[in-house]
Amino acid sequence: MATARPHLLGLTRPELAALAVEWGFARVHAASLWNELYLQGRRTPSDFVVHDQLPARYLDRVFSELAFDFPGVARETHSADGFTRKYLLALHDAHRIETVLMRYSGRVTACVSSQVGCAMGCVFCATGQMGYTRHLTAAEIVAQALHVDAVLRETTPATADAPAPALADPAHPSPHHRHERLRNIVFMGMGEPLHNYDAVMQAIDILRDGAGLALGAKKISVSTVGVVPGIRRLTAERRPVHLAVSLHGATQAERAALVPAARKWPLDELMDACRDYTSTLGRRIFFEWTLIDGKNDGPDHAHAVGALLKDIPAQVNVIPLNPTFGYAGEPTRPAGARAFQDVLATYGIPCTVRQRRGIDIAAGCGQLAIAE
Ligand code: SF4
Repeated sequence: MATARPHLLGLTRPELAALAVEWGFARVHAASLWNELYLQGRRTPSDFVVHDQLPARYLDRVFSELAFDFPGVARETHSADGFTRKYLLALHDAHRIETVLMRYSGRVTACVSSQVGCAMGCVFCATGQMGYTRHLTAAEIVAQALHVDAVLRETTPATADAPAPALADPAHPSPHHRHERLRNIVFMGMGEPLHNYDAVMQAIDILRDGAGLALGAKKISVSTVGVVPGIRRLTAERRPVHLAVSLHGATQAERAALVPAARKWPLDELMDACRDYTSTLGRRIFFEWTLIDGKNDGPDHAHAVGALLKDIPAQVNVIPLNPTFGYAGEPTRPAGARAFQDVLATYGIPCTVRQRRGIDIAAGCGQLAIAE
């Protein structure tokens, strides 16, 4: 995706409408363009259908002023169980990112990247082992969601009871779609989303737009390793997303050994920010805990988590470590995960043991990287 010009995929619908007016066109032209883009799935300038409310001269102006392209798919891999697909996407500057499509329990979720690499350096994470290269733009984030939506468009059958939006009336988009649509998105791919706050939030505004992908607030999860200023901004701006905080250690020393970012944002500051978030917004936080055999998975660790979170509306998601080349730890066995869960139950803290999926194609949590 070229970046010298503003990118069409990085604009919200109101921004696109304002541009149309600035160029001397009607707002309805921008609405028609948006419909073509987000509901009809147009991928190249020549795909757009010219009509009264989407005149050729408006499209000419759009594509001369704005960049419009999608990352290429450099590689696609499918898990053996058929539930996970991973896409290696090539960006305009030859950098690459990974995006994952997950289909579990009847839900389709896109796991998107927010950066090329990551600066946070979590020791067990393949992305952290890569180091940081650059932030993604909002357009590059939106493009990942549209890529997954396009895959669904191509791979799911049309349904007879949900007629397609009429191409003859694109200014009035129908809420019905013939194909399965993307409904969930998690910012748990490559990168730390709150380190790239502005682009991530711009992308979320675009993805939430009711005349486009219309992702519900409860269908978007932002996962952070504990970037305290980002959590405080989310709180102040009352951003309508789920917040997931990767904890992995319940003392400052244990956490910092796994998550170097904890040295910058210590555990007590993180928990203060989490308490403010839950009390201000009235929402719970999802705390993520990677279970590493003999490292952070014993009863003492579970009790420490319980004590740490007992006064915070919280849900804990534990997941046994996924293997990466750069870390020698082993995953906790299922019985150990269940024992951890049982201890948290004594504190009244709901805890889910997440299934390890997509491991065979290195698409599990902490496994995303771009090594060939
Ligand atoms: S776990 Fe997340 S924050 Fe940590 S290094 Fe990996 S991508 Fe970055």
